[in-house]
Amino acid sequence: MSAALTTIADLVAEGLADPAEAEALTRVTDRFRLRLSPTMRAALPSGGIAAQFLPQPRELTIRPEERTDPIGDRAFSPAPGLTHRYPDRVILAVTQVCEVYCRFCFRRETVGATGILPEADLAAALAYIAATPAIREVILTGGDPLSLSARRLGAVLDRLEAIPHLETLRIHSRVPVVAPERLDAAMIAALDREKPVHLVIHTNHPDELTPEACAALRRLNRAGVAMFSQSVLLRGVNDDAGVLETLFRALLRNRVKPYYLHHCDLAEGTSHFRTTIAEGRAIMAELKRRLSGLALPAYVLDIPGGAGKVALTPGMAEELAPGAWRVTDRLGQAHLYHDPDRA
Ligand SMILES: *Cc1c(COP(=O)(O)O)cnc(C)c1O
Ligand code: SF4
Repeated sequence: MSAALTTIADLVAEGLADPAEAEALTRVTDRFRLRLSPTMRAALPSGGIAAQFLPQPRELTIRPEERTDPIGDRAFSPAPGLTHRYPDRVILAVTQVCEVYCRFCFRRETVGATGILPEADLAAALAYIAATPAIREVILTGGDPLSLSARRLGAVLDRLEAIPHLETLRIHSRVPVVAPERLDAAMIAALDREKPVHLVIHTNHPDELTPEACAALRRLNRAGVAMFSQSVLLRGVNDDAGVLETLFRALLRNRVKPYYLHHCDLAEGTSHFRTTIAEGRAIMAELKRRLSGLALPAYVLDIPGGAGKVALTPGMAEELAPGAWRVTDRLGQAHLYHDPDRA
């Protein structure tokens, strides 16, 4: 398989970037990394895929409400690599590397900046988890945990599985769709465990579900991995009930339960991707008419600043004036959120 594309020169050489824009695009990728996996390179003729991965000069437009830490993870970090916001579960970022760098990523300031979590930090994180019996679930993220070698990932999972109060191991990954070849026999064996493994797959457009991706999902299913999906609502990519209906039906056919549809976070230089909450709710209302409960994810907002996720249902989110929302977090606290103007 050919190599990933990581520079504007690579894109120009493949006819994927306009040489006249190369200088502006290089300023974009100096700030927000570029990486396109061979599988997504092959799927690029789909406009829904190209917009997610090919850099654009308008990423240099940073709006005042956009943040380097849009969902407030840093305030909840008891140790490097760990985020502990909810009592019963923690996020452990085992690596900053991904197989692709998505142009709308809410961690775009940090992905790719460093590599694998150093052993001393990993050991400290595991010690914190082992000393905190309220934690029942560890969520491996990054970066992308499935970009680790099977040996290294298996070793992390072994150490987690040995902590008696951990009940489930969760992994958030884009690899099953963007680099399905990584799910070879060794990786599948590393994921087939005594304790349940829940895999939440990030996928946004039905064209990502290539035959190779579907075959990888089948291998994961045979290893007893329970599969869910999370998608980001993206203007110009999937802000359409028909596109999302096709995606969610295809996921269910491949044994993946649609879990979350995220409202696009306030990451820097991403305003061209953002819809309004009202637009998202209208799409969800239409999907509710068309889809079974199994195929329907929850539409959620990660409240800027760190109050956690809120379902954007009429009960939890109220539009006080056009674009001005009052959302209620899980502790009953109200927060104001404004739909930003678009770029
Ligand atoms: C989203 C998130 C989780 C997982 O939440 P679920 O609703 O269980 O999927 C856990 N910790 C943090 C910090 C999160 O942002
Ligand atoms: S794969 Fe996930 S973490 Fe990596 S760049 Fe894409 S959205 Fe961000």
